[in-house]
Amino acid sequence: MTVLSAVQATYVVAGVLFILSLAGLSQQESARRGNVLGIIGMALALVATVALALQSSERPWQVTAALILLVLVVGAAVGTWRVRKVEMVQMPELIALLHSFVGLAAVLVGYGSYLTDTGSDTVHLVEVFLGVLIGAVTFTGSIVANLKLAAKIKSAPLTLPGRNWINLGLVVAAVALLAWFLAAPDQGIVPLVLMTLVALALGWHLVASIGGGDMPVVVSMLNSYSGWAAAAAGFMLGNDLLIITGALVGSSGAILSYIMCRAMNRSFVSVILGGFGTEPGTAASGDAEGEHRETFAADVAEQLAHAASVIIVPGYGMAVAKAQYPVADLTEKLRARGVDVRFGVHPVAGRLPGHMNVLLAEAKVPYDVVLGMDEINGDFATTDVVLVIGANDTVNPAAQEDPGSPIAGMPVLEVWQARDVVVFKRSMATGYAGVQNPLFFRENTAMVFGDAKEQVERIIQAL
Ligand code: NDP
Repeated sequence: MTVLSAVQATYVVAGVLFILSLAGLSQQESARRGNVLGIIGMALALVATVALALQSSERPWQVTAALILLVLVVGAAVGTWRVRKVEMVQMPELIALLHSFVGLAAVLVGYGSYLTDTGSDTVHLVEVFLGVLIGAVTFTGSIVANLKLAAKIKSAPLTLPGRNWINLGLVVAAVALLAWFLAAPDQGIVPLVLMTLVALALGWHLVASIGGGDMPVVVSMLNSYSGWAAAAAGFMLGNDLLIITGALVGSSGAILSYIMCRAMNRSFVSVILGGFGTEPGTAASGDAEGEHRETFAADVAEQLAHAASVIIVPGYGMAVAKAQYPVADLTEKLRARGVDVRFGVHPVAGRLPGHMNVLLAEAKVPYDVVLGMDEINGDFATTDVVLVIGANDTVNPAAQEDPGSPIAGMPVLEVWQARDVVVFKRSMATGYAGVQNPLFFRENTAMVFGDAKEQVERIIQAL
């Protein structure tokens, strides 16, 4: 067997492992196995690619090996340092930043491929052009998403006058530059550089035009773009595995974006076109107000001691407070006393698709009591107590009742239907979408102010 055919065979195995990995990740119970399969697939892919590089390099193999080792060591060192430092709540920003690297890599591969491959085969030129275009859009788009998620720039949508015309103009300019690039491939560097600038501006403007509330979709959409950028790089490098992997990431990211749009009742087309069709200037309203009622840990413990059914609704605040561990302890204690305890998880709770599921799994909450929004929404009306742990937008009745609300139409967990609702948060501040929540002023709602972890620990002590 030649090195080339061994590499091709390894690529096929890695491709199958990636597909099995995605299948595993679609279920909480099999997610760990899915991750392991993905890691094995990636390790095989890496070994095969290095073997191929050593075999096909024109330099002495020792030089190629040293170069590869150098970039591996630098990359692994930076990656390890960054991942050890990052807090779980900063994960979405980190993911957005990692997508920007994939975009940048596609741009660099495109330039490398154009400058070193002197042939003017049209198919290759189109691959270079598209790879650089998608890569540059992904690069700046991901940087803007990172800055928005890290609250380094405002999350409200940028509404420049004629913003849809700006996007359209940039796309038309890119098409015109493609025509120039193909007509004069020898002097193609000028249209290629101009198109890169156009694509960088387009990526920046597309994501800047999308409001903070739609960020979940943007994160998964950029994930999809980064996949297509990698697939384009695969075409340029003639690497089949990169094409397969890129296409898998691209299509699974697109499917996830679509699922999230449905979960938030947003138009998929509108979101991917940078807020196309949305009313500019829909300001976050803060007009819901009234009297709220405060309660304390000891009283909540008393309430729980007499409850037969409890639903816990976690949100971003649980992640901030790292309250998942005491929440898991509380669940265990209540279940031991015969209380029916379940969790209701909204598809966009937290700051990352599946964020709450990861935290609850980390704290060893049994999978069978963690239910999705559609599974649990019908059960609130027959529930004694709902504990809302750091969730806000995802339990906001204004989404159903106030057509002028920025989150109008987003399906929410109907916690207010329960007999009693207890909301854990530190203040009366709004959630991510910047909208006040009329739930807090309902008669059956009581507020426990303070850090969610501390308050839940107090409840456990009082029980
Ligand atoms: P929200 O962001 O609406 O609200 C979080 C709540 O947690 C706030 O009310 C905050 O109130 C409270 N909180 C923060 N820290 C603590 C703490 N230490 N202890 C107790 N409470 C705390 O959360 P949801 O999960 O309900 O909604 C998610 C939002 O994020 C949605 O708008 C969604 O669109 C958006 N989003 C989701 C993404 C995803 O993929 N899941 C990605 C990007 C955005 P206070 O400050 O008063 O404590």
